[in-house]
Amino acid sequence: MKIVIAGAGIGGLTAALSLHAAGFSDVTVLEAARHIQQLGVGINLPPHAVRELDELGLHEGVAAFGIPTAELAYIDSAGRLINAEARGLEAGYRWPQYSVHRGKLQDLLLDAVRSRLGPQAVIAGQRVQEVHYDTERATVRTVGHDGATSTCEADVLIGADGIRSAVRGALYGQQAPLATNGWTMFRGTAEGQPFRGGRAMVIVGDEHLRCVVYPIGPGMLNWLIVRPTGPEGAGELGNWNRPVAPETVAGYVSHWDFDWLDIPALVRRSPAAYEYPMADIDPLPRWTFGPVTLLGDAAHAMYPFGSNGASQAIIDARVLAYQLATQPDRDAALAAYEQLRRETVGAVQLANRSMAGDVMKRVSTLARASDHASAAAELERVEQSYRKLAGFDVAALNERPSWSVARDPGMAVPPR
Ligand SMILES: Cc1cc2nc3c(=O)[nH]c(=O)nc-3n(C[C@H](O)[C@H](O)[C@H](O)COP(=O)(O)OP(=O)(O)OC[C@H]3O[C@@H](n4cnc5c(N)ncnc54)[C@H](O)[C@@H]3O)c2cc1C
Repeated sequence: MKIVIAGAGIGGLTAALSLHAAGFSDVTVLEAARHIQQLGVGINLPPHAVRELDELGLHEGVAAFGIPTAELAYIDSAGRLINAEARGLEAGYRWPQYSVHRGKLQDLLLDAVRSRLGPQAVIAGQRVQEVHYDTERATVRTVGHDGATSTCEADVLIGADGIRSAVRGALYGQQAPLATNGWTMFRGTAEGQPFRGGRAMVIVGDEHLRCVVYPIGPGMLNWLIVRPTGPEGAGELGNWNRPVAPETVAGYVSHWDFDWLDIPALVRRSPAAYEYPMADIDPLPRWTFGPVTLLGDAAHAMYPFGSNGASQAIIDARVLAYQLATQPDRDAALAAYEQLRRETVGAVQLANRSMAGDVMKRVSTLARASDHASAAAELERVEQSYRKLAGFDVAALNERPSWSVARDPGMAVPPR
């Protein structure tokens, strides 16, 4: 079976590795970028994502650069603690949670794909431009940086080409508009001293202004600030790389200089900062059309709130490979994949919208009235139901069968 993956991001590369582990050898990844560089800043890999990377043999690699997050603390706008909850191993999971640099994770995955599937498995500088398909095969037309076009055929085409997916556009006959809540996220990294024990992620603020800070390496802090800018101030939706002056962003949070963390100074000394209008898509009614299916942000772009964008892409990749290896035929496999994933992830998309909006409003209203106990209880309640929805309820994750395909009886991981 010839499998083509559009996009060498977190989801596309994990799909290539998962397919290889499940026994597929003819897998090609087409990536639009000419050079795959370490782009992006920090992302979080909760235990449900780490479990999948572990079962792909990549845990040691992630642990080499990731910070094993032990705590998530919510702080109100006045700097008072609302709630601190344990994360990763400290919360009872069998797998840690890691905070990592997105680019380092992408590099780790890319190196693994090239060493396991061969150096030709990822073709950079080939942007998927057109997709045609019938019931049997997909034809993919790409354009290179020199403008030259090429065509290839696939028995399965996986659109893992991110929030502005060309494959999704081809399936739906047009690019679905991206939605925004009118908030903009500002992001960067800078050197900084550890706080709250050195393995904590803090969320400071309320429904009007929020800042998230966590370490992504020794002496290196990742920050992001979200504030409403209105739809008219939203800039280009879906572009992760728009630079903004750190000094401008520091001005938004000038009052958040706490004795344990000086947020404006952290932002000001960042070598670079980026702005990203919060964007997502409505849950799609369908992911699979004949031999073509979608995965990751192409299928379910969500607000980056809840640490689940990369995680859900990784799980998609594992479930899809498992189904292709174990179902009687391709169409049954793609149907089973979509059945297991589409509605679940659609609910996570909607939960992220709500967490970015009304949940913060409810919690902050309680915190402003100095009812921190009720605010903490509300956060705990929302967190527990979010974990169940997104697949990282502690007991369910620890106990559920693996998505690894047992290829010989000696394999360590038992089949589902
Ligand atoms: C440059 C960049 C920086 C990011 N930074 C952050 C961040 O700091 N924090 C955060 O939470 N999330 C960030 N993200 C998004 C995050 O990686 C994803 O939400 C998540 O990992 C899901 O992964 P994905 O593989 O579905 O999409 P992505 O990781 O976005 O990968 C999609 C890949 O497809 C490629 N591609 C796009 N169009 C085409 C095409 N037509 N043909 C071929 N290839 C194509 C892209 O270049 C990219 O490599 C970033 C994404 C990108 C692309």
